[in-house]
Amino acid sequence: MKYIDEFRDGDTARLLAGLIHKEVRPDRNYRLMEFCGGHTHAIFRFGIVDLMPENVRFVHGPGCPVCVLPAGRIEAAIRLAESSDIILCTYADLMRVPAGKKDSLHKARARGADIRMIYSATDALAIAQANPERQVVFFAIGFETTTPPTAAVIRIAAAMALTNFTVFCNHVLTPPAMAHILASGEASIDGILGPSHVSTIIGSQAYADCCAQYRMPLVIAGFEPVDVIQSTLLLIRQINEGIHRVENQYTRAVSASGNRKAKALMDEIFELRPRFEWRGLGELPDSALAIRHTYAAFDAEKRFHMAPVTTTDINGCICPAVLRGVSNPDECKLFGTVCTPEEPKGACMVSSEGACAAYYSYGRFRAEVTS
Ligand code: SF4
Repeated sequence: MKYIDEFRDGDTARLLAGLIHKEVRPDRNYRLMEFCGGHTHAIFRFGIVDLMPENVRFVHGPGCPVCVLPAGRIEAAIRLAESSDIILCTYADLMRVPAGKKDSLHKARARGADIRMIYSATDALAIAQANPERQVVFFAIGFETTTPPTAAVIRIAAAMALTNFTVFCNHVLTPPAMAHILASGEASIDGILGPSHVSTIIGSQAYADCCAQYRMPLVIAGFEPVDVIQSTLLLIRQINEGIHRVENQYTRAVSASGNRKAKALMDEIFELRPRFEWRGLGELPDSALAIRHTYAAFDAEKRFHMAPVTTTDINGCICPAVLRGVSNPDECKLFGTVCTPEEPKGACMVSSEGACAAYYSYGRFRAEVTS
Protein backbone atom coordinates (compact mmCIF):
# COMPACT_ATOMS: atom_id res chain seq x y z
CA MET A 1 0.00 0.00 0.00
CA LYS A 2 1.49 3.33 -1.03
CA TYR A 3 -1.24 5.92 -1.42
CA ILE A 4 -3.97 7.36 0.76
CA ASP A 5 -6.81 5.84 -1.32
CA GLU A 6 -5.70 2.34 -0.38
CA PHE A 7 -6.21 3.17 3.28
CA ARG A 8 -9.77 4.30 2.50
CA ASP A 9 -10.69 1.30 0.39
CA GLY A 10 -14.20 0.10 1.27
CA ASP A 11 -13.60 -3.56 0.33
CA THR A 12 -10.50 -3.80 2.52
CA ALA A 13 -12.33 -2.09 5.37
CA ARG A 14 -15.27 -4.52 5.08
CA LEU A 15 -12.90 -7.51 4.89
CA LEU A 16 -11.13 -6.45 8.10
CA ALA A 17 -14.44 -5.68 9.81
CA GLY A 18 -15.62 -9.17 8.83
CA LEU A 19 -12.60 -10.67 10.55
CA ILE A 20 -13.40 -8.66 13.66
CA HIS A 21 -16.97 -10.03 13.66
CA LYS A 22 -15.59 -13.56 13.27
CA GLU A 23 -12.96 -13.25 15.99
CA VAL A 24 -14.74 -11.38 18.79
CA ARG A 25 -15.97 -13.56 21.60
CA PRO A 26 -19.70 -13.15 22.12
CA ASP A 27 -19.41 -13.61 25.89
CA ARG A 28 -17.49 -10.41 26.58
CA ASN A 29 -17.25 -6.71 25.74
CA TYR A 30 -14.20 -5.01 24.25
CA ARG A 31 -13.71 -1.44 25.43
CA LEU A 32 -10.97 0.17 23.35
CA MET A 33 -9.69 3.66 24.10
CA GLU A 34 -8.60 5.72 21.13
CA PHE A 35 -6.15 8.06 22.81
CA CYS A 36 -6.06 10.63 19.98
CA GLY A 37 -8.81 13.01 18.96
CA GLY A 38 -7.71 12.35 15.37
CA HIS A 39 -8.80 8.73 15.77
CA THR A 40 -12.11 9.80 17.34
CA HIS A 41 -12.84 11.90 14.27
CA ALA A 42 -11.77 9.10 11.87
CA ILE A 43 -14.02 6.62 13.71
CA PHE A 44 -17.05 8.88 13.39
CA ARG A 45 -16.31 10.42 10.01
CA PHE A 46 -15.86 7.07 8.26
CA GLY A 47 -18.67 5.27 10.11
CA ILE A 48 -16.31 2.75 11.69
CA VAL A 49 -18.63 2.38 14.71
CA ASP A 50 -21.30 1.02 12.35
CA LEU A 51 -18.93 -1.70 11.11
CA MET A 52 -18.17 -3.00 14.60
CA PRO A 53 -20.00 -5.77 16.48
CA GLU A 54 -22.24 -4.54 19.31
CA ASN A 55 -19.74 -5.65 21.95
CA VAL A 56 -16.83 -3.60 20.55
CA ARG A 57 -16.95 -0.07 21.93
CA PHE A 58 -14.62 2.87 21.41
CA VAL A 59 -13.84 4.96 24.49
CA HIS A 60 -12.59 8.46 23.78
CA GLY A 61 -9.33 9.54 25.36
CA PRO A 62 -7.57 12.80 26.25
CA GLY A 63 -5.50 13.12 23.07
CA CYS A 64 -6.72 16.56 22.00
CA PRO A 65 -4.16 19.21 22.95
CA VAL A 66 -6.65 22.06 22.99
CA CYS A 67 -9.12 20.07 25.10
CA VAL A 68 -6.67 19.13 27.86
CA LEU A 69 -5.38 22.67 28.37
CA PRO A 70 -7.04 23.98 31.54
CA ALA A 71 -8.98 27.23 31.34
CA GLY A 72 -6.53 28.89 33.76
CA ARG A 73 -3.69 28.75 31.21
CA ILE A 74 -5.89 30.49 28.61
CA GLU A 75 -6.98 33.05 31.19
CA ALA A 76 -3.32 33.71 32.02
CA ALA A 77 -2.60 34.36 28.32
CA ILE A 78 -5.58 36.72 28.07
CA ARG A 79 -4.40 38.67 31.13
CA LEU A 80 -0.94 38.99 29.62
CA ALA A 81 -2.30 40.14 26.25
CA GLU A 82 -4.56 42.74 27.88
CA SER A 83 -2.10 44.06 30.43
CA SER A 84 0.89 44.77 28.22
CA ASP A 85 1.65 45.92 24.72
CA ILE A 86 2.49 42.48 23.39
CA ILE A 87 1.47 40.56 20.28
CA LEU A 88 0.11 37.15 21.32
CA CYS A 89 0.28 34.49 18.58
CA THR A 90 -1.52 31.16 18.67
CA TYR A 91 -3.33 28.52 16.66
CA ALA A 92 -6.93 29.08 15.51
CA ASP A 93 -8.40 26.19 17.53
CA LEU A 94 -7.44 27.88 20.78
CA MET A 95 -9.12 31.19 19.97
CA ARG A 96 -12.66 30.14 20.88
CA VAL A 97 -11.93 27.80 23.79
CA PRO A 98 -13.79 29.15 26.83
CA ALA A 99 -11.52 30.52 29.54
CA GLY A 100 -12.71 31.80 32.92
CA LYS A 101 -15.89 33.88 33.23
CA LYS A 102 -17.05 32.86 29.73
CA ASP A 103 -14.09 34.72 28.22
CA SER A 104 -11.89 33.57 25.31
CA LEU A 105 -8.91 34.76 23.29
CA HIS A 106 -11.37 35.61 20.51
CA LYS A 107 -13.34 37.91 22.83
CA ALA A 108 -10.15 39.46 24.19
CA ARG A 109 -9.11 40.25 20.62
CA ALA A 110 -12.50 41.87 20.02
CA ARG A 111 -11.86 44.04 23.09
CA GLY A 112 -8.63 45.28 21.50
CA ALA A 113 -5.87 42.89 22.56
CA ASP A 114 -3.38 42.19 19.78
CA ILE A 115 -3.94 38.44 19.41
CA ARG A 116 -3.06 36.88 16.08
CA MET A 117 -3.85 33.48 14.58
CA ILE A 118 -0.92 31.63 13.09
CA TYR A 119 -0.49 28.36 11.19
CA SER A 120 2.95 27.41 12.48
CA ALA A 121 5.57 28.27 15.07
CA THR A 122 7.67 29.92 12.38
CA ASP A 123 4.81 32.36 11.68
CA ALA A 124 5.22 33.66 15.26
CA LEU A 125 8.95 34.05 14.72
CA ALA A 126 8.33 35.96 11.48
CA ILE A 127 5.95 38.31 13.30
CA ALA A 128 8.66 38.98 15.90
CA GLN A 129 11.19 39.75 13.16
CA ALA A 130 8.73 42.08 11.43
CA ASN A 131 7.90 43.95 14.68
CA PRO A 132 11.23 44.55 16.45
CA GLU A 133 9.70 47.31 18.61
CA ARG A 134 7.02 44.96 20.03
CA GLN A 135 7.27 41.92 22.29
CA VAL A 136 5.84 38.83 20.58
CA VAL A 137 4.65 35.84 22.66
CA PHE A 138 3.95 32.48 21.03
CA PHE A 139 1.22 30.65 23.00
CA ALA A 140 2.51 27.12 22.29
CA ILE A 141 0.37 24.06 22.96
CA GLY A 142 0.38 20.43 21.93
CA PHE A 143 1.66 16.93 22.53
CA GLU A 144 5.04 15.66 21.35
CA THR A 145 4.03 16.16 17.69
CA THR A 146 4.11 19.94 17.86
CA THR A 147 6.88 20.27 20.42
CA PRO A 148 9.88 19.97 18.04
CA PRO A 149 8.77 22.98 15.92
CA THR A 150 8.49 25.06 19.10
CA ALA A 151 11.97 23.89 20.13
CA ALA A 152 13.26 24.80 16.68
CA VAL A 153 11.97 28.38 16.78
CA ILE A 154 13.44 28.92 20.24
CA ARG A 155 16.80 27.69 19.00
CA ILE A 156 16.56 29.92 15.90
CA ALA A 157 15.54 32.93 18.01
CA ALA A 158 18.56 32.30 20.26
CA ALA A 159 20.89 32.05 17.26
CA MET A 160 19.48 35.33 15.92
CA ALA A 161 19.75 36.91 19.39
CA LEU A 162 16.13 38.05 19.12
CA THR A 163 15.14 40.00 22.21
CA ASN A 164 11.44 40.43 21.45
CA PHE A 165 10.36 36.79 21.11
CA THR A 166 9.20 34.47 23.92
CA VAL A 167 7.15 31.29 24.21
CA PHE A 168 4.32 30.58 26.66
CA CYS A 169 5.02 26.86 26.82
CA ASN A 170 2.11 24.45 27.31
CA HIS A 171 3.53 21.31 25.72
CA VAL A 172 2.38 18.09 27.37
CA LEU A 173 3.51 14.47 27.24
CA THR A 174 1.48 11.45 26.18
CA PRO A 175 2.89 8.51 28.22
CA PRO A 176 2.30 10.11 31.67
CA ALA A 177 -1.32 10.90 30.76
CA MET A 178 -1.84 7.34 29.52
CA ALA A 179 -0.28 5.94 32.70
CA HIS A 180 -2.54 8.14 34.82
CA ILE A 181 -5.69 6.92 33.05
CA LEU A 182 -4.64 3.29 33.38
CA ALA A 183 -3.62 3.70 37.02
CA SER A 184 -6.98 5.22 37.94
CA GLY A 185 -8.89 2.31 36.34
CA GLU A 186 -11.86 4.66 36.07
CA ALA A 187 -12.44 4.15 32.35
CA SER A 188 -12.33 0.32 32.40
CA ILE A 189 -10.32 -0.21 29.20
CA ASP A 190 -9.36 -3.49 27.52
CA GLY A 191 -6.95 -2.06 24.93
CA ILE A 192 -5.60 1.18 23.50
CA LEU A 193 -5.41 2.50 19.96
CA GLY A 194 -2.13 4.33 20.38
CA PRO A 195 -1.31 7.79 19.03
CA SER A 196 0.07 7.95 15.53
CA HIS A 197 1.51 11.44 14.99
CA VAL A 198 2.92 11.60 18.52
CA SER A 199 4.52 8.21 17.97
CA THR A 200 6.37 9.39 14.88
CA ILE A 201 8.36 11.53 17.31
CA ILE A 202 8.64 9.41 20.47
CA GLY A 203 8.54 5.95 18.85
CA SER A 204 6.50 2.87 19.71
CA GLN A 205 8.77 1.79 22.56
CA ALA A 206 7.84 4.89 24.54
CA TYR A 207 4.71 3.01 25.68
CA ALA A 208 6.42 -0.26 26.59
CA ASP A 209 6.74 0.41 30.34
CA CYS A 210 3.17 1.66 30.63
CA CYS A 211 1.76 -1.38 28.78
CA ALA A 212 3.84 -3.79 30.82
CA GLN A 213 2.95 -2.19 34.15
CA TYR A 214 -0.79 -2.14 33.48
CA ARG A 215 -0.85 -5.31 31.32
CA MET A 216 -2.55 -3.31 28.58
CA PRO A 217 -2.58 -4.24 24.87
CA LEU A 218 -1.69 -1.25 22.68
CA VAL A 219 -1.59 -0.88 18.90
CA ILE A 220 -0.22 2.30 17.33
CA ALA A 221 -2.74 3.10 14.63
CA GLY A 222 -2.68 5.34 11.56
CA PHE A 223 -5.51 7.80 11.00
CA GLU A 224 -7.14 6.35 7.89
CA PRO A 225 -10.16 4.04 8.22
CA VAL A 226 -8.30 0.88 7.15
CA ASP A 227 -5.58 1.74 9.69
CA VAL A 228 -8.10 2.07 12.50
CA ILE A 229 -10.03 -1.11 11.63
CA GLN A 230 -6.87 -3.18 11.20
CA SER A 231 -5.53 -1.85 14.52
CA THR A 232 -8.83 -2.75 16.18
CA LEU A 233 -8.47 -6.30 14.85
CA LEU A 234 -4.92 -6.51 16.21
CA LEU A 235 -6.12 -5.31 19.60
CA ILE A 236 -8.94 -7.87 19.66
CA ARG A 237 -6.46 -10.62 18.86
CA GLN A 238 -4.19 -9.54 21.73
CA ILE A 239 -7.15 -9.41 24.11
CA ASN A 240 -8.39 -12.84 23.02
CA GLU A 241 -4.94 -14.33 23.46
CA GLY A 242 -4.54 -12.68 26.88
CA ILE A 243 -1.35 -10.90 25.90
CA HIS A 244 -0.32 -7.27 26.25
CA ARG A 245 2.34 -5.78 24.06
CA VAL A 246 3.01 -2.69 21.98
CA GLU A 247 2.26 -3.37 18.32
CA ASN A 248 2.85 -0.91 15.52
CA GLN A 249 0.29 -0.90 12.71
CA TYR A 250 1.48 2.52 11.48
CA THR A 251 4.86 1.25 10.28
CA ARG A 252 4.89 3.60 7.31
CA ALA A 253 5.56 6.49 9.70
CA VAL A 254 6.44 5.17 13.17
CA SER A 255 9.64 3.40 14.21
CA ALA A 256 10.48 1.76 17.52
CA SER A 257 12.72 4.58 18.69
CA GLY A 258 11.05 7.54 16.96
CA ASN A 259 12.68 10.58 15.47
CA ARG A 260 16.14 10.82 17.01
CA LYS A 261 16.83 14.39 15.84
CA ALA A 262 13.49 15.70 17.04
CA LYS A 263 13.93 14.08 20.44
CA ALA A 264 17.44 15.53 20.79
CA LEU A 265 16.14 18.99 19.90
CA MET A 266 13.33 18.72 22.45
CA ASP A 267 15.80 17.59 25.07
CA GLU A 268 18.12 20.53 24.32
CA ILE A 269 15.40 23.15 24.76
CA PHE A 270 12.97 21.66 27.29
CA GLU A 271 13.00 19.94 30.66
CA LEU A 272 10.25 18.21 32.64
CA ARG A 273 7.90 20.35 34.69
CA PRO A 274 7.51 18.87 38.15
CA ARG A 275 3.72 19.27 37.90
CA PHE A 276 1.22 20.46 35.29
CA GLU A 277 -2.54 20.70 35.43
CA TRP A 278 -4.56 18.92 32.72
CA ARG A 279 -8.24 19.54 32.14
CA GLY A 280 -9.97 16.39 33.33
CA LEU A 281 -6.91 14.64 34.70
CA GLY A 282 -5.86 17.16 37.33
CA GLU A 283 -2.24 17.90 38.27
CA LEU A 284 0.10 15.22 36.95
CA PRO A 285 3.81 14.99 37.87
CA ASP A 286 6.41 15.07 35.07
CA SER A 287 3.69 15.31 32.43
CA ALA A 288 4.63 18.56 30.66
CA LEU A 289 7.63 20.52 29.48
CA ALA A 290 9.17 23.81 30.58
CA ILE A 291 11.87 25.81 28.80
CA ARG A 292 15.35 25.03 30.16
CA HIS A 293 17.23 27.62 32.18
CA THR A 294 19.74 27.99 29.31
CA TYR A 295 16.93 29.36 27.15
CA ALA A 296 15.15 31.28 29.94
CA ALA A 297 15.35 34.50 27.90
CA PHE A 298 12.71 32.96 25.62
CA ASP A 299 10.37 31.86 28.40
CA ALA A 300 7.30 34.14 28.53
CA GLU A 301 6.34 32.92 32.00
CA LYS A 302 9.70 34.14 33.32
CA ARG A 303 10.01 37.31 31.28
CA PHE A 304 6.50 38.56 32.09
CA HIS A 305 6.30 37.02 35.59
CA MET A 306 3.10 35.23 34.62
CA ALA A 307 1.26 34.08 37.74
CA PRO A 308 -0.72 30.82 37.79
CA VAL A 309 -4.45 31.39 37.31
CA THR A 310 -7.12 29.05 38.59
CA THR A 311 -10.55 29.10 37.03
CA THR A 312 -13.39 26.67 36.42
CA ASP A 313 -15.21 25.28 33.40
CA ILE A 314 -18.79 26.31 32.67
CA ASN A 315 -21.49 24.73 34.86
CA GLY A 316 -22.83 21.54 33.34
CA CYS A 317 -19.90 20.93 30.96
CA ILE A 318 -18.60 17.38 31.42
CA CYS A 319 -15.45 17.80 29.29
CA PRO A 320 -13.28 16.51 32.17
CA ALA A 321 -15.23 13.21 32.29
CA VAL A 322 -15.18 12.93 28.48
CA LEU A 323 -11.39 13.38 28.49
CA ARG A 324 -10.98 10.63 31.10
CA GLY A 325 -13.03 8.24 28.98
CA VAL A 326 -15.78 7.85 31.59
CA SER A 327 -18.55 9.77 29.81
CA ASN A 328 -19.64 10.24 26.23
CA PRO A 329 -20.42 13.70 24.85
CA ASP A 330 -24.12 12.92 24.37
CA GLU A 331 -24.40 12.38 28.14
CA CYS A 332 -23.79 16.11 28.60
CA LYS A 333 -27.03 18.02 29.13
CA LEU A 334 -25.66 20.93 27.08
CA PHE A 335 -24.67 18.79 24.07
CA GLY A 336 -26.24 19.92 20.82
CA THR A 337 -28.57 22.41 22.47
CA VAL A 338 -26.73 25.01 24.53
CA CYS A 339 -23.35 23.77 23.27
CA THR A 340 -22.72 23.49 19.52
CA PRO A 341 -19.68 24.11 17.31
CA GLU A 342 -21.11 27.56 16.55
CA GLU A 343 -21.59 28.39 20.26
CA PRO A 344 -19.16 26.08 22.11
CA LYS A 345 -19.33 26.00 25.90
CA GLY A 346 -16.44 23.59 26.39
CA ALA A 347 -13.09 22.83 24.78
CA CYS A 348 -14.20 19.43 23.43
CA MET A 349 -16.77 21.15 21.18
CA VAL A 350 -14.31 23.75 19.86
CA SER A 351 -11.34 21.77 18.76
CA SER A 352 -11.14 20.00 15.43
CA GLU A 353 -9.93 17.00 17.49
CA GLY A 354 -12.53 17.26 20.26
CA ALA A 355 -14.85 14.32 20.97
CA CYS A 356 -17.94 16.53 21.31
CA ALA A 357 -17.23 18.14 17.94
CA ALA A 358 -16.89 14.65 16.40
CA TYR A 359 -20.21 13.51 17.90
CA TYR A 360 -21.95 16.66 16.74
CA SER A 361 -20.40 16.81 13.27
CA TYR A 362 -21.00 13.20 12.28
CA GLY A 363 -23.97 12.26 14.49
CA ARG A 364 -23.01 8.60 14.49
CA PHE A 365 -23.13 7.98 18.22
CA ARG A 366 -25.14 5.12 19.65
CA ALA A 367 -26.00 4.08 23.20
CA GLU A 368 -23.34 2.38 25.28
CA VAL A 369 -23.99 -1.30 26.01
CA THR A 370 -23.85 -2.32 29.64
CA SER A 371 -21.09 -4.71 30.44
S1 SF4 B 1 -21.14 19.17 24.86
FE1 SF4 B 1 -20.12 21.12 25.27
S2 SF4 B 1 -20.53 21.57 27.40
FE2 SF4 B 1 -20.94 19.37 27.08
S3 SF4 B 1 -19.03 18.29 27.55
FE3 SF4 B 1 -18.99 18.73 25.37
S4 SF4 B 1 -17.94 20.71 25.20
FE4 SF4 B 1 -18.55 20.49 27.37
